[in-house]
Amino acid sequence: MQYDVVIIGGGPAGSTAAIYLARAGKRVLILEKEHFPRFHIGESLLPYNMPIFEEMGVLPALQAADFMPKKGGRFSLARGDQENAITFAEGRFTEEPVAMQVERSVFDKILLDHARESGVEVREGWMVESYAISEQDGVTVTASSEYEETFQASFLLDASGLVNFTANREKLRQYYPNLQKIAIYGHFTGVDFSQHERQKTETHIACFGDSWFWIIPFSEKKVSIGLVLDRSAVKESGLTTEQIFQNAIDSSPNVSQMMLNSARIGALHVTSDYSYSNDKLVGPRLVRIGDAVGFLDPVFSSGVYLACVTARAGAQSVIDALDSSKALSPSMKAYEKQTRCNLKRYREIIELFYDRSFIEILLQPEGVLSWPCAINAVLAGRLDLPWALRWRLKTFLWFARIHHRFGLVKRMDFG
Ligand SMILES: Cc1cc2nc3c(=O)[nH]c(=O)nc-3n(C[C@H](O)[C@H](O)[C@H](O)COP(=O)(O)OP(=O)(O)OC[C@H]3O[C@@H](n4cnc5c(N)ncnc54)[C@H](O)[C@@H]3O)c2cc1C
Repeated sequence: MQYDVVIIGGGPAGSTAAIYLARAGKRVLILEKEHFPRFHIGESLLPYNMPIFEEMGVLPALQAADFMPKKGGRFSLARGDQENAITFAEGRFTEEPVAMQVERSVFDKILLDHARESGVEVREGWMVESYAISEQDGVTVTASSEYEETFQASFLLDASGLVNFTANREKLRQYYPNLQKIAIYGHFTGVDFSQHERQKTETHIACFGDSWFWIIPFSEKKVSIGLVLDRSAVKESGLTTEQIFQNAIDSSPNVSQMMLNSARIGALHVTSDYSYSNDKLVGPRLVRIGDAVGFLDPVFSSGVYLACVTARAGAQSVIDALDSSKALSPSMKAYEKQTRCNLKRYREIIELFYDRSFIEILLQPEGVLSWPCAINAVLAGRLDLPWALRWRLKTFLWFARIHHRFGLVKRMDFG
């Protein structure tokens, strides 16, 4: 074999997996269709990302890039004055106090360069066109740049993001019917945080009834602002995405105040149909990681974190399979099971968020049963849940579902 592993895609998942594989002495090739740096959405990271970066040896390079710290999240009504901030350092079960807000073009390049420095062969500007898997003989991948080339490997890792390269070909993609959303977003300069200095180190989620804004300051001068709403609402409105975005800003006194003297940098982007799962995450000689596993929703900024978590675990399962000369090892199956379990935990809370129950309970002035400290840990990315955290989370989910039916706490006017 030319390579132990070929990886499709050099985003956070592809780079992370490649680094772990290279450090285990495996021969790895990343094929990435773009030339980095390139624009990508997804600037807000989670604190539990930090130990992974440290383990990968990329933390010093990330620190040198001087990204903005993220110390927590703020949830508010877009039209009202009710809000609640979560500070990671104050969470009883949150062991990692701070994350980063990153410009993805810069961040993704640092990770990819670190993969290269770790001994990975990286080919940018190479688009994977097709692949063939033989359980006995290995994987053949064909990619094109100025010319076409075929590569042989023992394993294929799909880190192609929302392109979902291998699962699409196997017709495995299932969209979540209740998460058919569209995101309209851009980068802005001149956003005013003087009213709430603290927001410079937070991700702010400002909620309308059926849509919400994210506000992510990722450098002193640049802020990522996005609006998420039902895809059907865009169709029915008959408006352009630009008009919808502006109308939403005008309808929120908080957001419009911050954006009064702001200017957009570059285009307004639109992404839809991003919430989906795949029926299978592993197969003989194949492991899917990152968004190619499936993607839930941007609301809790879990995308890059889960990309790194799945990449690390997926890479480890491939290392085990290579070392035991198996095409489909028990650790690959265990990886699939654990990943589904992690995704389920986020999905449950995301569904409550869109039901408003999450926000209505979170914005209550008194923290019932210390739920906010459990939410704090989960939103920071803690995946190993001790009993004291698990029961709080379970009762929160249970309470929120009952609240949905019977209105246990005050209903809020989302406008
Ligand atoms: C609207 C929106 C907002 C988001 N906000 C956040 C946020 O605030 N925080 C957060 O953590 N996450 C956020 N996310 C999610 C985040 O963007 C992703 O979870 C993350 O980028 C996943 O990393 P990845 O490496 O799996 O995929 P990607 O980062 O998408 O990387 C995949 C790579 O594969 C390459 N590729 C694809 N097909 C091929 C091919 N055929 N051949 C070669 N290369 C190929 C692509 O060029 C790309 O570079 C958001 C997502 C959306 C849709």
